[in-house]
Amino acid sequence: MSIRDNLTRLLKEIPQGVKLVVVSKTKSVAEIMEAYDAGQRMFGENKAQEVMSKKMLLPGDIEWHFIGHLQTNKVRQISSFIHWVHSIDSLKLLVEVNRQAMKNKRIIHCLLQMYIATEETKFGLDLNETKDILESPGFRGMENIRIDGLMGMATFTCDKAVIRKEFRILRNYFNRLKSDYFQETPSFSEISMGMSSDYQMAIEEGSTMVRIGTAIFGSRS
Ligand SMILES: *Cc1c(COP(=O)(O)O)cnc(C)c1O
Repeated sequence: MSIRDNLTRLLKEIPQGVKLVVVSKTKSVAEIMEAYDAGQRMFGENKAQEVMSKKMLLPGDIEWHFIGHLQTNKVRQISSFIHWVHSIDSLKLLVEVNRQAMKNKRIIHCLLQMYIATEETKFGLDLNETKDILESPGFRGMENIRIDGLMGMATFTCDKAVIRKEFRILRNYFNRLKSDYFQETPSFSEISMGMSSDYQMAIEEGSTMVRIGTAIFGSRS
């Protein structure tokens, strides 16, 4: 199956209203161009250096999504072009994204990455940490970021019941935060969850953005 065939098949499966972020980390510019030529415009990367160098070689109408852990000192490098950061996991990072977006006279779409897995290694905020950010005095003044929703990664396991339960937790967090903080903010509307192995389930549980790499490009070496 070609990249184009995989993409076409996936797009048929994904309901309208669910965004497909094609995860192109480790993939070549030529492979990304195959997806681009098939009409795809949203791509996800998880390393600042990698997305910077790819951006320079690829068409300007690509919407780049940063999906990996982002160090504060790397924000500056991507702030002139990154459209979305899915991985906001501290107030400090959000402050820096806002600061760099302001310097570039841009607005960067942000998702708060919430910790839903049982693994110790995953990054993310718990509900209290999220509330602390949203209630912090600095938050209201940030005019160059927009919190558009939440992102989460389920535990790396074959146990579908565990994954479904974690997606439900994220969906519940979203509903609670929406009603407590974003009732008058229609743009707080995204739940970024679901990857190649679990996107169908994520969509059933309310995902609005799926991040898919392997099912399109094949496995990463
Ligand atoms: C790599 C990655 C994905 C895509 O994973 P696949 O299994 O290749 O679809 C999605 N989200 C994040 C945060 C990733 O790092």
